[in-house]
Amino acid sequence: MTKTAFSSEFQGEFDVEQLLAHLGYENPNITDLSSLPKEVHDRITQTVVCPSCGVSGAIIVSASCAKKTRKILSQPHFRFFSTDRQSSHDPLCDFYHEHDSAQYCRSVDFRSTKNAATLIVRDLVCKGIEHHIFSQKTIREMRQWFFEKRKSHSFVLDIPSELIEWCSFLLECTHITGVTFQPIFGEIPNFNWEEAAKYHLSQANASQIEILRSGWAGFSKKNHLSRTYQLAKQFQNQLVFNATALSKEYRTTIELTNFFTKALRVRGLKFIYPTIGYLGNMESLVAFCGLLLFINNWNIEKSASLAIKLMLENPAQDQLAGNIIGLDPFYDFHAWSALMLAKKVNDSQYTNAPVLEKLEQAQSELRKMHERWKYNS
Ligand SMILES: [Zn+2]
Repeated sequence: MTKTAFSSEFQGEFDVEQLLAHLGYENPNITDLSSLPKEVHDRITQTVVCPSCGVSGAIIVSASCAKKTRKILSQPHFRFFSTDRQSSHDPLCDFYHEHDSAQYCRSVDFRSTKNAATLIVRDLVCKGIEHHIFSQKTIREMRQWFFEKRKSHSFVLDIPSELIEWCSFLLECTHITGVTFQPIFGEIPNFNWEEAAKYHLSQANASQIEILRSGWAGFSKKNHLSRTYQLAKQFQNQLVFNATALSKEYRTTIELTNFFTKALRVRGLKFIYPTIGYLGNMESLVAFCGLLLFINNWNIEKSASLAIKLMLENPAQDQLAGNIIGLDPFYDFHAWSALMLAKKVNDSQYTNAPVLEKLEQAQSELRKMHERWKYNS
């Protein structure tokens, strides 16, 4: 589902209720939007587009509620269908998976948040709009810029789970130090063949370890790794975005976010320092910093001075002037960049097999070396 969509008529991104209010229908019956006049539906279809890929032909879908309790189960939303009732979004659009877009798309919704950082960001966004530094149109332009990036840096994902397991294993092996195996080692009672096999594998695959070390890996931390597996499974054989195309922008955005939290010591933000590998609950600030950088052509100095100007302004009068901001560019960055590294490993001399199998095979090779040496000596 698409919770908010862009109205070319009102030049902003709105949810269904906000859009209907603009059209003169305050407090509509959200569980029965079909009762609205046909011309309202037609006007929405003609003027509302997807905020990401820009596909037109929006229809509004009523909220659903429980039969007995009348409790709202899902909010009213937009749908973009083709004539055969399939999603008409571009396959690379965040909202292509109409039934499950929350899985793939992240936006900060300012209306319902209680998060201190997001409340601060909401005020900054609304101030920016109030002082004409940017507009809802600019926010959409950023979404579209990202969408174009996706289009021009996409590939078909073909990463088996064994490959992710292998990459994670190799990175663990980088911590192992040792001595190259010599057959005489096998004479030691209780010799640790498994450790020797690990070291042997890390030596034999040094070039793959180099590849893995060249990027920001989402293989090591538990939460990154599980997300990497999840994405690989969900998007297997599908067209996906090569997130590393935005590495430079991502790094700059994290630097600006840290400027906010460390140098400016904004109240409510001072104890959380996002890093390249960890955004904590600062996703809204990261999205806002991305927006500031986007309008300043990724110049961090100009963006920082603009951030300070905004902070020094009085609180915005309309706290809903900007109700949503896309997080898309950097969402799941680690998991995606890990998949890109896995792809590079796959393109090298990788043979697909479970790590355990490879370890057993390596152990067996070492034992044979020992046996041959013993036989000949
Ligand atoms: Zn779309």
